[in-house]
Amino acid sequence: MKKRMIFLGPPGSGKGTQAGKVAELLKIPHIDTGSMLREEIAAGTEEGKTAEKYINQGQLAPASLVIQIIKNRLSRPDTKDGFILDGFPRSLEQAEGLDAILKEINEQIDYVFNIDLEEQILVDRMAYRKSCKNCAQKYNMKFNPPKADNICDICGCELTQRADDNVETAAKRIQTYKKETEPLINYYTKKGLLINIEGNRQIAEIFHNILSVLGIMNVPQYK
Ligand code: AMP
Repeated sequence: MKKRMIFLGPPGSGKGTQAGKVAELLKIPHIDTGSMLREEIAAGTEEGKTAEKYINQGQLAPASLVIQIIKNRLSRPDTKDGFILDGFPRSLEQAEGLDAILKEINEQIDYVFNIDLEEQILVDRMAYRKSCKNCAQKYNMKFNPPKADNICDICGCELTQRADDNVETAAKRIQTYKKETEPLINYYTKKGLLINIEGNRQIAEIFHNILSVLGIMNVPQYK
């Protein structure tokens, strides 16, 4: 059955990790606006130049920009069997923009997973987060470090840290989340779509929790 989902949650909650795992299992696109914006920055586009200023200050990029990115992405045929929106929408304006896009393409959202986590844990998770330059495998230098210093266990390439994953910007991103994004919990609760997921657990445990909500049981390779 077609599954169209949103993953909500504060920065550092692990929503990207879970969204990636669910998308891989269901073979549906993982649409992550943060990564898409970082790709625009790396490619040196006008959109990237605009977004970079906001990202480096822990603020939201302009809604019109991300809504257009999502509109283009959802028009691609690989979304026909479902999709996961990770990090979008992030404000009421974006949620309303998404509603308008969905109406136009005659789609709807089936589940909104809200990955919940205490604030104190979030900054630590972001400040120690690194990923492989080559295969994008994620690490936490404090809680889940690689075997060799700064080297990916999987492919042996160097690890890198996102420009906005430092203590100062992480704290600002949490503030932005509270002001702009948290109201979406109420927005999607009213629509009867919100599912709260306790985020302070092992990755596999959270994953199984999400799969059970989706009615997917017995996935032995993901134990
Ligand atoms: P993320 O990778 O999801 O943590 O996003 C990193 C940064 O990209 C955020 O702190 C924002 O500055 C920007 N960003 C990502 N998604 C959005 C969005 N939907 N709306 C506005 N800004 C976004």
